[in-house]
Amino acid sequence: MSSIKNLIELQNIDKQLMELEDILGDLPKKVDELILEKKQTIKSIEDGKQRIKEIQLDLNKIELRVKEDNQKIDHLKDQLFKVTTNKQYDATMLEIDYLKEQLDKDETVDIELMEEKDALVEQITKQENNVESVSKDLSERRESLEKMLQESAERKEQLESDRVEIVKSIEPQVLKRYNVVRKARHGTAVVPVLGASCSGCGAVVPPQKMAEIRSDKISYTCDECSRFLFIEK
Ligand SMILES: [Zn+2]
Repeated sequence: MSSIKNLIELQNIDKQLMELEDILGDLPKKVDELILEKKQTIKSIEDGKQRIKEIQLDLNKIELRVKEDNQKIDHLKDQLFKVTTNKQYDATMLEIDYLKEQLDKDETVDIELMEEKDALVEQITKQENNVESVSKDLSERRESLEKMLQESAERKEQLESDRVEIVKSIEPQVLKRYNVVRKARHGTAVVPVLGASCSGCGAVVPPQKMAEIRSDKISYTCDECSRFLFIEK
């Protein structure tokens, strides 16, 4: 009969192999996320800078228009002294009012654009800092990913060769059962008895079976969850 110790050791190896896969699965994902974040931030910075250019063009246009309108108003005010009829006076005043109204509108738009521009400049500064830190994080993670890949490849190889060795000492039908239970029980097929219960599912172990379990031979599996049981020493 196989020794329960061998089965425990096999499970230990399998758990380490599983952990290795988890670590390797998570890190490349994190690297991919950072690459995406960096890409999106760079795109957003470019869009922001493009918008600032557009705003600046609009601001220049407004500035020019304001200057022209002010000149027109000055000119019209000069004309007021020269008008000879009420009708001419009213028409000139109307034109001045219209231009002043336009100036007010332009001033409002000018303020809005300036505010938008300031907000964008602030946002871009933050994003540029973010890109910098993401880049740093990314290169660090890439470095550790490569290192980890190399280390874990070596470790995985060692564990797999250990597994081949330990499997030799376990009877085929026990191994088969171990693999089935392990798959069904999230990687844990061998558990200690705690008190008088299976620590995997809590089912009570019949007292007459305790002696068998204590014997170190693989003989008893939990009636409820089918896990192999042993007594921790
Ligand atoms: Zn159980």
